[in-house]
Amino acid sequence: MKRIAILGSTGSIGLQTLEIVRDNPDLQVVALAAGSNVNRMEEQIREFKPLLAVLWDEGAARDLKERVADTDVQVAYGMDGLIAAAVHPMAEVLVTAVVGMIGIRPTIAAIEAGKTIALANKETLVCAGHLIMPLARERKVDILPVDSEHSAIFQSMNGEPKNRISKILLTASGGPFRGKTKEQLQNIRPEDALKHPNWSMGPKITIDSSTLVNKGLEVMEARWLFDVDFSRIQVVVHPQSIIHSMVEYEDGGIMAQLGAPDMKLPIQYALFYPDRRPMKGKKLDFYDIGQLTFEKPDMENFEGLRLAYKAGETGGSMPVVYNAANEKAVRLFLDGKISYLRITEIIRACMEEHRKTDNPDVEQILRTEQETYEYIEKLY
Ligand code: NDP
Ligand code: MG
Repeated sequence: MKRIAILGSTGSIGLQTLEIVRDNPDLQVVALAAGSNVNRMEEQIREFKPLLAVLWDEGAARDLKERVADTDVQVAYGMDGLIAAAVHPMAEVLVTAVVGMIGIRPTIAAIEAGKTIALANKETLVCAGHLIMPLARERKVDILPVDSEHSAIFQSMNGEPKNRISKILLTASGGPFRGKTKEQLQNIRPEDALKHPNWSMGPKITIDSSTLVNKGLEVMEARWLFDVDFSRIQVVVHPQSIIHSMVEYEDGGIMAQLGAPDMKLPIQYALFYPDRRPMKGKKLDFYDIGQLTFEKPDMENFEGLRLAYKAGETGGSMPVVYNAANEKAVRLFLDGKISYLRITEIIRACMEEHRKTDNPDVEQILRTEQETYEYIEKLY
């Protein structure tokens, strides 16, 4: 029996993780946490019978507690609740599937408690990788990537000499607006950007995929997970999303991981690593696929990727500004308050304004996030 806790159980990754639990009777859920979705959390409690259920929102948690009073589940809320779920004494693995920097404190707490981390929450690593990776090494805790590209890179390193890696080739679908110019991007509405050609995901990452900010965050995520510098991480646009990423070695040999675009594979791989369990669903048929194509990313019209390299290379608190500015700008765009192109303009403006702090601690990271939000509120 493997016991798991999930932060973000009601979201896209959380729901797919629970589908895997349904298919594998030797997985047991001991703690679930989400933001405010009482209905979904109640359903999940009744089906998966966790010992602890957490909602960030206090009022929603109170409502939940009344609704599930007939069960044995314990209900908690807020940051204390998230941390309690992350360090639950019965759990061996924590799936971090919340969206945004809210994941930083619970992830650190889980590592300190010795939990294996199945990491989907890339924003946490982007902002606090310099704290999280050394801590994980010190506590001998595995951080297993859930993000499909990083899972592919991880799989492409199985049994290979780490000191012989020459390059990471991070693939990108290019999103729904690949090939468009800034002019054509001007009037994109939220409903256009919420349609991704290959993947079905939560709203924030879907917008990030369309702006290439998601790929930018993934470049920074790869830098921390695999300890390579930015000059050795190359983004390759591959619209079919069949090759999920590759690693080139010094002899020119390239290892890649391929598969149908389905997040359940990387999630399941992280949960059972190093085993490979059977999985339902369509397998690749190369006669159907016919051809795979590759392109260079367009960093002029999709500035989000260029800015990510800049933020990552600058380091310190700059990735926090990149990420916080994007989180806020995406929210403003989804609320209809700013235009599509403003998202990357805001990121650029915030980065230009920021004076970086080296090696920020958690307090400084959260303060930088807050200051970035306030700067944007003043501007727009
Ligand atoms: P969703 O928006 O679908 O889900 C977000 C989850 O986080 C929900 O369960 C939500 O709860 C919860 N949440 C939001 N705010 C809080 C909070 N303050 N406290 C506790 N829980 C909170 O996101 P995704 O599943 O798409 O993405 C999750 C993470 O995984 C992101 O970092 C994303 O970049 C990454 N990722 C996602 C992929 C995908 O295919 N979706 C692929 C690779 C990475 P509620 O429902 O109650 O609001
Ligand atoms: Mg990804």
